[in-house]
Amino acid sequence: ESEVIHCIGCGAVIQTEQPNELGYTPNAALEKGLATGEVYCQRCFRLRHYNDIQDVHLTDDDFLRLLNELGREDALIVNVIDIFDFNGSLIPGLHRFIGDNPVLMVGNKVDILPKSLKKPKMIQWMKERAHEEGLRPVDVLLTSAKKPQEMEELLEMIEKYREGRDVYVVGVTNVGKSTLINQIIKQTAGVKDVITTSQFPGTTLDKIEIPLDDGHFLIDTPGIIHRHQMAHYLGKKDLKLIAPQKEIKPKVYQLNSEQTLFLGGLARFDFVQGERSSFIAYVSNDLSIHRTKLEKATAFYEKHVGGLLQPPRPDEVAEFPELVRFEFSIKEKTDIVFAGLGWITVTEPCVVAGWAPKGVDVLRRKALI
Ligand code: GDP
Repeated sequence: ESEVIHCIGCGAVIQTEQPNELGYTPNAALEKGLATGEVYCQRCFRLRHYNDIQDVHLTDDDFLRLLNELGREDALIVNVIDIFDFNGSLIPGLHRFIGDNPVLMVGNKVDILPKSLKKPKMIQWMKERAHEEGLRPVDVLLTSAKKPQEMEELLEMIEKYREGRDVYVVGVTNVGKSTLINQIIKQTAGVKDVITTSQFPGTTLDKIEIPLDDGHFLIDTPGIIHRHQMAHYLGKKDLKLIAPQKEIKPKVYQLNSEQTLFLGGLARFDFVQGERSSFIAYVSNDLSIHRTKLEKATAFYEKHVGGLLQPPRPDEVAEFPELVRFEFSIKEKTDIVFAGLGWITVTEPCVVAGWAPKGVDVLRRKALI
């Protein structure tokens, strides 16, 4: 039986197989560590040496424990949301866990929204959605974790609402929480060694504490995988491709009834019935869109998924969930949202259908633009 080795930083059991899970260490690093008697997991290693926060994924149990912990603190909760995947960013039941603690909702990745989208409209929309989820944020802010200049407003807001308390940053994976935390560290600390780690009681999980200037901390919490995220079904390279890196350039299609658009092999949009009109796709500029006849669409997909219709890649097709259909009867200008992928704006009354991998949502919302 092989000996269990623990990270001397966070106590996690060292493993060399799963890079995104707790305790991961590359083999070479493990050998070095064993030679010196100091084995760190990659996350703790990077934190010590580069002040670089890596994301870890949590099991549901650990996450629930962590959320319960938050309810017992007196703190400001900063909930990071990917505005490109609002529903996939929500933490189920967050409002029940956090007790009376105020929530500041931060909509990240604003840099990829087309300039034609008005920020106040987006903020208003987020507030309404949050309320529907039972969450009443004290404020909603749009930001871009990739842009240093955006951190100032965020830090001011945090200062305003924390009222001398600790700050917990929470979010599901892939919303950009690590990028945000790293940006905050660069902005505020700049000084190494000021970051500390301590454990969440009852877990082997370390939390990253960034000291604020009054003896309180900004605390980074691990992210949980949201199974309804498109990201859950894709490899790293495809994630890069579907997560827009730059401002989205809307693509306009004049469609006749009974035409179909494929968004790579990830989603499908059918114009089922209505007058010829415009449909505007807001997805990553790198995702290719194919137009075909509705009656041939299913056969076309079966033939070309993983080939002409990518992602998924050829070797991922077998594992990729089947597409599931949602039909919508449209009365006014409406967005059909493919969670995590983008949306198609329908401009005239008609009937459409959106298809997404089983488990990923297709929803309608009043057009944002
Ligand atoms: P985490 O899992 O929440 O910690 O997310 P990461 O920080 O690892 O970010 C997930 C992905 O989103 C990465 O590909 C980032 O480069 C990207 N990302 C993060 N913040 C932004 C942002 O403000 N704008 C854009 N365009 N991409 C971002």
